[in-house]
Amino acid sequence: MKKIKNILFTGEQIQAKIKELAQQINEIYKDEELYVVCILKGAVIFASDLIRHLNMPLKLEFIRISSYKGSTQSSGKIDAIDLSLPNLNGKNVLIVEDIVDTGYSAQFILDYFNKNFKTKSTRFCVLLNKKIKHKVQVDIDLYGFEVGDNFIVGYGFDLDEHYRNLPYIAEL
Ligand code: IMP
Ligand code: MG
Repeated sequence: MKKIKNILFTGEQIQAKIKELAQQINEIYKDEELYVVCILKGAVIFASDLIRHLNMPLKLEFIRISSYKGSTQSSGKIDAIDLSLPNLNGKNVLIVEDIVDTGYSAQFILDYFNKNFKTKSTRFCVLLNKKIKHKVQVDIDLYGFEVGDNFIVGYGFDLDEHYRNLPYIAEL
């Protein structure tokens, strides 16, 4: 395993940012029912911390896609591993993702929702935004931190399935 170069965000910084995001989300939906759709595997830790600060009636769903295949570069090709969801027509949907890098995964997910459901609202919430790497335009409604071009691990982010369990976000 590669050595951790430096810690970008500590566990405390991440939790503080999540509380800010949750406040914004609580403001948006008030008491309306919300379907949170967590994108596995990377967003599982972010989503589980985030939803514990949300106050509205909430249902949690998961879909699983994959794009990196053990490297530090996006392959650009998205593997839809499990897209099974209940009928989300007429529902408020908040997609919770770990990071937008090239934007291909986000684009794939948003296209999937637009093609398959007529939701009441669909919003995209991501913890990290690698703005300088975007190759396609993605409508991000909420994000936690902007990051640069380095490969990130920890707090759900992996390199070849390792490091997801680190309580902080670090660069390799
Ligand atoms: P995109 O399709 O290029 O935007 O990449 C999105 C997916 O690649 C994310 O859902 C992550 O799972 C993964 N990914 C992108 N950048 C990183 C990184 O720096 N570390 C770990 N995973 C990453
Ligand atoms: Mg991901």
